[in-house]
Amino acid sequence: MRDTCKTCQGNGEIITDWDRYMHPNDGDVGDEAVADCPDCDGIGTVTASGAEGSER
Ligand SMILES: [Zn+2]
Repeated sequence: MRDTCKTCQGNGEIITDWDRYMHPNDGDVGDEAVADCPDCDGIGTVTASGAEGSER
């Protein structure tokens, strides 16, 4: 079972630089101010675990 990643709201990426995200520099393609979400590896969903701490 998969749940939407709460860290990135399912986008699979997180914004690392809000200022640049809102106001990109000339030549930015759009991913300069974002990074793959570390919690879901950029997938956007995480494995739902009913038992806390049983995965690792
Ligand atoms: Zn995520």
